[in-house]
Amino acid sequence: MTMRRLGAASAALVLTLGLAACGSDDGGGDGGSGGDGGDSIKIGIKFDQPGLGLKEGNTYTGFDVDVANYVAKEMGKTDVQFVQAPSKQREDLIATGQVDLIFATYSITDERKEKVSFAGPYFIAGQDLLVATDAKITGPKDLDGKKLCSVTGSTSADNVKKEVPGVNLQEFDTYSKCAEAVSKGQLDALTTDDTILAGYAAQDQYKGKLKVVGAPFSEERYGVGLKKGDTELCEQVNEALTKMVDDGEWDKAVEKNFGPAGFEVDSETNPPKLDTCS
Ligand code: GLU
Repeated sequence: MTMRRLGAASAALVLTLGLAACGSDDGGGDGGSGGDGGDSIKIGIKFDQPGLGLKEGNTYTGFDVDVANYVAKEMGKTDVQFVQAPSKQREDLIATGQVDLIFATYSITDERKEKVSFAGPYFIAGQDLLVATDAKITGPKDLDGKKLCSVTGSTSADNVKKEVPGVNLQEFDTYSKCAEAVSKGQLDALTTDDTILAGYAAQDQYKGKLKVVGAPFSEERYGVGLKKGDTELCEQVNEALTKMVDDGEWDKAVEKNFGPAGFEVDSETNPPKLDTCS
């Protein structure tokens, strides 16, 4: 934890000394699986969700990216490596150690908790619909027999299968592919979190063509995915999340990333109270 206060040269020196001491010190330092006490950390994010996790060249932007960078910094990690974490692969990426943490519009669910643990929640979103500007769809009740798009391994696909059994659901691996299909009129609607939908609706290529219906029908509590049972890491992340809210950086990240899309954050549910790590 003291590492982040040191300059690069002294940090490198401490790292060298740290490595030399490792054999007798049982890893030492901040421990846990979040980069094994080194100064690098692998974080899973989305690469194609504007406002949340977006990769453009070597630049990463979005609310998830900002929260991830804040938490990593608090953990003393100076080298953050972002890894693409499509919805369906998130549990496996964590279980196999390909990522240390996931910040990827990742809803906390009991089913997922069988395979991974979660810090947070750090945001609460709601499932909604993205449709053509002139479409008559106003909610799930209008979806019977319609061609709906969502993503494999998401709560969005699961919820809608239960809610509207009569819908013709097409599942892709990313939401950006769904948005494109809806904009071309190949499919009637895309369903996922309102945060994600607002990001697409505000993109230049979709402005005036796509709209968010604006009637959320679920509660999506975004957690930070981590290795199942790593309570120490979970608590470290929660400590950083608490600090981010307290020092105003969480608010700034919300404004910076959701403001431009005109997405109104529900301040009754946000920022949410953290769950206990277990
Ligand atoms: N928050 C939902 C989920 O975790 C939908 C968004 C996503 O797939 O990332 O499944």
